[in-house]
Amino acid sequence: MCFGVTTMALAHSENEVVTMLKAVGLRVTPQRDAILRHILVYRGHSSADDIYRSIHERWPNISVSTVYNTLKSFSEAGLVKEITFGDGASLFDANTYPHHHMLCVQCGQLTDFYLPEMPDLTSVAKELCFQIDECQLEVRGVCANCQDIMKS
Ligand SMILES: [Zn+2]
Ligand SMILES: [Zn+2]
Repeated sequence: MCFGVTTMALAHSENEVVTMLKAVGLRVTPQRDAILRHILVYRGHSSADDIYRSIHERWPNISVSTVYNTLKSFSEAGLVKEITFGDGASLFDANTYPHHHMLCVQCGQLTDFYLPEMPDLTSVAKELCFQIDECQLEVRGVCANCQDIMKS
């Protein structure tokens, strides 16, 4: 979640969003356009609720479930990556490049981080007869902001 970067909206031209939707074979609708544009502008990790709240003023007919279903179809098409933490709501990650997350337990902020190499879990998986589809690390702790607040 990060709101308030309205000027960045200009960075993504109408054509770019339309091209992305067409490239993955999704029909271009005003809702899809608005939702994808929002994701591209704000980057980060948004839930269907977050996106609904920030676009429903402009798109009053849109429902949370429409937003959610649209995000699901984006995720299936590889435009965003759906992630879940514990039993929390699905978050949709604008960053589709393989990466991991640091989760602030105070404010819930998610920060992306990268590792030069994925940990090799082949032998562990073999021992457990487990077939690994993907591997994402979730590191919990306190972000820089919250550390500052705690100090003051
Ligand atoms: Zn924090
Ligand atoms: Zn991420």
